[in-house]
Amino acid sequence: CPQVQRALLALTIPLEKLQAVKGRMLQAMHKGLSRQTHAEADVRMLPTYICSTPDGTEKGDFLVVELCQSHVRTLWVAFLGDGNQNPQEMYKIFDMPEDIKKGKGEALFDFIAQCVKQFLAGIGSPQNPLPLGFVFPFGCKQTQLDKAQLISWSKGFNYSDVQGKDIVGLLQSAIKKQELYHVNVVALVNDTAGTMMSCSMGGKPCEIALIADKGTNSCFMAEARQVEMVDENSGQMCVNTEWGYFGDDGTLSDILTPYDQHVDDESSNPGQKRFEKLVGSLYLGEIVRHVLITLAAEKAVFAGNNVVILQTKGVLKTQQILEILNNEEGVAAVRRTLEPLGLQPSERDCCRVQQVCRVVVSRAAALCATGLAAILSHMCQSRQMDRLLVNVAVDGDMYRGYTRFTEILQSVVGLLSPECMATFVPAGDGTGQGAAMVTAVALRVATKRREVNQLLAPLRLSRADLERVQVLMRREMDLGLSPDTNADASVRMLPTYVFATPDGTERGHFLGLDLGGTNFRVLVVRVTDDGIHMASEIYVIPTAIMQGTGEALFDHIIECIVDFKKKQNMMTKTLPLGFTFSFPCQQLGLDKAVLLSWTKGFSASGCVGQDVVQMLREAAQRKQHSGLDVVALVNDTVGTMMACGHDDPKCEIGLIVGTGTNACYMEERRNVGTVEGDQGRICINMEWGAFGDNGCLDEFFTDFDRVVDEKTINPGKQRFEKLISGMYLGEIVRQILLALVEKRLLFHGKPCPKLQTKDIFKTKFLSSIECDGLGLQQVRTILEDLELQATSEDSALVREVCQTVSLRAAQLCAAGLAAVVEKMRQNRGLAELSVTVGVDGTLYKMHPHFSKELQKMLEYLAPNCNVTFLLSEDGSGKGAALVAAVASRGTNSQPLLPQ
Ligand code: ADP
Ligand code: MG
Repeated sequence: CPQVQRALLALTIPLEKLQAVKGRMLQAMHKGLSRQTHAEADVRMLPTYICSTPDGTEKGDFLVVELCQSHVRTLWVAFLGDGNQNPQEMYKIFDMPEDIKKGKGEALFDFIAQCVKQFLAGIGSPQNPLPLGFVFPFGCKQTQLDKAQLISWSKGFNYSDVQGKDIVGLLQSAIKKQELYHVNVVALVNDTAGTMMSCSMGGKPCEIALIADKGTNSCFMAEARQVEMVDENSGQMCVNTEWGYFGDDGTLSDILTPYDQHVDDESSNPGQKRFEKLVGSLYLGEIVRHVLITLAAEKAVFAGNNVVILQTKGVLKTQQILEILNNEEGVAAVRRTLEPLGLQPSERDCCRVQQVCRVVVSRAAALCATGLAAILSHMCQSRQMDRLLVNVAVDGDMYRGYTRFTEILQSVVGLLSPECMATFVPAGDGTGQGAAMVTAVALRVATKRREVNQLLAPLRLSRADLERVQVLMRREMDLGLSPDTNADASVRMLPTYVFATPDGTERGHFLGLDLGGTNFRVLVVRVTDDGIHMASEIYVIPTAIMQGTGEALFDHIIECIVDFKKKQNMMTKTLPLGFTFSFPCQQLGLDKAVLLSWTKGFSASGCVGQDVVQMLREAAQRKQHSGLDVVALVNDTVGTMMACGHDDPKCEIGLIVGTGTNACYMEERRNVGTVEGDQGRICINMEWGAFGDNGCLDEFFTDFDRVVDEKTINPGKQRFEKLISGMYLGEIVRQILLALVEKRLLFHGKPCPKLQTKDIFKTKFLSSIECDGLGLQQVRTILEDLELQATSEDSALVREVCQTVSLRAAQLCAAGLAAVVEKMRQNRGLAELSVTVGVDGTLYKMHPHFSKELQKMLEYLAPNCNVTFLLSEDGSGKGAALVAAVASRGTNSQPLLPQ
């Protein structure tokens, strides 16, 4: 029959069309999530402030009030902290009197509060504080879990005096009026979120809920950073899509049939909730009715019948439609439905009616699946995953009433989002327990937040703290510069015998060595008219050599030099050599430097107190390598300053934040009591890593810092460095994570054997974990490599710990630098100082926020200094060559030597 065929075809949406609808749903969701377009979006994507799903530890008594169509349901639930296996509950239903339904909003809330009072009296509840979750099934603009403005009433409710008011506040004051002072409204819960949470109990967290009921809606756990209406950037948040309104801007026009148009025209809200009117069970009977009206008019069904009855709205109930479809005896079911309406369907009519019912309901299920596919793909994408496995809570009379519903969901979702695997979890009690669970989770999260804050508080420095660090640094600098107090200062303020920064006229070929941290490098540096050219090799210094004998260490260095010269084909040449040696040295001349102490994991014996240049020369003799002409030894801070100074004459500070941290700057010679002469300036290697070794920073050290310090090979030494640099930040994070696990705030308190291993948490992990926009999934992957099973909540917490530790490092560094630039400004009697800092170090360069935070805090602490940071490329090696350039005989350069 062509008429029937045509109707069926119009109601069948081909797969490509569904694919397109999914794309439009995704667009609509993005529109709802974006701050700019949120207000005009038809899919509102309302934040719910539910940031976590149950983890099974929720415990305590909770009260729920549910506002339903014609009654109020009160519920008491006790969670036992047993994985939510056996929550206990009692409930009571209160019918809503007509006058309340028709009256004022205030009366409604008073009535709800009275229900609560009666219920509590009935169950004899004690007077201890009772948190309450309020299930409120209307669209709300939530700004907190317990703050929500009603957007609009629906479902026959209409209290104009409530519109725009805070719903939680209204309920809380009504409850107060009833003198229930121990009842606190903690959460307002949308029914969708309630379903998600109720299905999440018992160890299978659901991250999506799908309601296919009279209306339709969904919610899911979105990445908080994508919910732009909310300022929170880490973690997740449940978003109530309100997808029933999808298509209200016309996006669905190409799938709407004339039948849908009739249904919409006859509804109480024409033009609105177009998606819901294709999917919600409230409308399916109506759609079928309009199809039948058309077919009857075309004489394709009910020939010879009086079909006027079909004009009556609501004569076909969805329940009957589902019965027709679910029943094996479909034909009989059609008869049972139509005969009471006075229709006499033939066998063939019955078949056709059944076909129409099937196609209408299947379309609804397929559209539901399409929306779900959009959510799944969105989640998969925003979590940057290749595959998403997720549990979906489903509820509603469509879902319950139609046996093939799940089947269709499964297959359509599989076709539209093949990268996602959804497991459907049928809702049990529905929203009540879910609301109790939202409340319980909210309390658990709040308690946890308090404990986490308590644990991290000592690591969070106030501006006053940092100002104090700046003052202390300044004091130590002054102590270090004066010969009388130098011995008591923790900051050694070592003169470097570099008296000026480069002026760009330096020329020549030089050999450079860079020893002082993670890598040992040998370089050849050619300073020419058209720039600086370099070639270099990196050599590993094995720990056995770092911590063996001095002779072996320097022998190894010579071997590397020989290897390098061979590779560069310059065995016969003797070039002036600049040695970047990044350990504290008492310098007696440019090529005479006594090692004061090892740092950063070095401990080679027989070196402290010896002249490093001499030790290198002796090793060359032992190795019978004659082509060595060491002309200068410089600290890496000095090398960095010099290298950057070659490009920017304002560069008068060198800063390193790599394996260790240190700084140097140009000080007035008259201020340096430890060196003869009053004219001009001299570069001071501060050795600020040791700041605090005399106890002056003790108030800022946390227990974590103390443990990290104790486990180093130089306990009690380099205390400032151990708060800031790459060798230690990962370790500090590791100690905090261990403490969080022990307090059962992380990884469910499960023991983490791998996390017990020193240095397993690399500082470079901080950089990746703190990277903006990096999904929590990525954090999870990093943690999985450490055999740590992290939930998204765990991942968010680990990220917070990393952020806290690296922020403190950057801010402390700023406090140190503030002392330096302020001193330089005062030295020069300037109202404003403009200065450049040459910086090197992988932590500074690679960490996503370190440099920004450092600069921000420096601007606050030293407002009269205009500080520019210049990254040094290969700075320390190049800088040593530049120092050598001036020091070596025969050069024509500006004096770096004493004037
Ligand atoms: P050095 O200071 O020894 O001359 P670097 O400046 O390269 O060497 O710093 C090395 C240190 O940088 C390592 O100790 C490591 O902790 C840290 N680091 C390495 N990669 C990263 C990264 N991606 N982000 C932050 N820190 C890093
Ligand atoms: Mg370095």
